[in-house]
Amino acid sequence: MDDLARDRPGLSVVIPIYNEEQGLPALFARLYPALDALQVSYEILFVNDGSRDRSAALLKDEFLKRPDVTRVVLLNANYGQHTAIIAGFERVRGERVVTLDADLQNPPEEIGKLLAAMDRGADYVGGVRVKREDVWWRRLASRAMNRIRERITRIRMTDQGCMLRAYSRDIVDAVAASREVSTFIPALAYTFAHAPAEVEVAHEERVAGQSKYSVYRLIRLNFDLVTGFSLVPLQLFSMFGMLVSLLALITYVVVIVYRVAFAEWRGMLGVLWDRDILAFFLIGMLLFGLGLVGEYVGRIYQQVRERPRYTIKAVLERDDRVPQESRDRHQTAVR
Ligand code: UDP
Ligand code: MG
Repeated sequence: MDDLARDRPGLSVVIPIYNEEQGLPALFARLYPALDALQVSYEILFVNDGSRDRSAALLKDEFLKRPDVTRVVLLNANYGQHTAIIAGFERVRGERVVTLDADLQNPPEEIGKLLAAMDRGADYVGGVRVKREDVWWRRLASRAMNRIRERITRIRMTDQGCMLRAYSRDIVDAVAASREVSTFIPALAYTFAHAPAEVEVAHEERVAGQSKYSVYRLIRLNFDLVTGFSLVPLQLFSMFGMLVSLLALITYVVVIVYRVAFAEWRGMLGVLWDRDILAFFLIGMLLFGLGLVGEYVGRIYQQVRERPRYTIKAVLERDDRVPQESRDRHQTAVR
């Protein structure tokens, strides 16, 4: 066994944090006891996703209180929840890795259920929120997106939006090695899983603060999901284009025949078929199609520039690589 494997905790918990100062004290108060109760060695990795409130200061205080099990990565700016989790995945050391939202919507007491499913042989465990505590339009939109994803990708999961999930070390390594700029972690990780499982988990209302996802950000996120895992939207567009051309061709032939043979029918065609409305519909479809192509091209553009996906301001962690005797002196070394 190499050094790293010996030092490896049984469990790493990765929590992305964006402007959560109001809820963090409640999170700390429930998270540590819940993990202590699991009887596994663990580490918690908080990733501060460029919060503009006091979250970073609160995380630092918490690190100083529990440096043995707490690590903090402070990102330079707000890169989004999934990129923050990637930053966490690149650093976690645990045999198993659990992700969790910071707002206590995913009760930390449920982590045990995920680990139990892993004990039964799963390498990827997705939470399924039994009774989701979110506004109705988000539940509705989620259901629709889950259905669309089910049809156009090969990813099979009940509740893609639930971030209470457990991943094996292999999967976390594979996710960290993927160089995708915009991604959707539960779906990406699923593509590496060979024994995925699901368990039902509780869901609670946000303890404090507000959702960090506006309608705009939710739409962006869902484009990441769809474009990241499927080409079906593009293919549907070519199908639609072909269908429209074919119909147009047939109509053209029909109209010419009418004109030549049954001139008196022309009036009827004019009533039945309002060309302008159809034209607006088609223009709308064309613009949407162009935008859709743009969504893919834009992502290709971001990808080929190969800029770093995020930059780090600081990492707060106890330096475990220094020899034991000098460890106390380095206990709160800030790297
Ligand atoms: N989050 C983040 N970066 C962002 C947006 C959100 O790290 O740009 C974190 C946030 O702090 C929380 C989690 O992602 O821990 C889920 O966010 P939120 O609860 O606002 O989403 P919702 O539950 O409304 O889907
Ligand atoms: Mg939430």
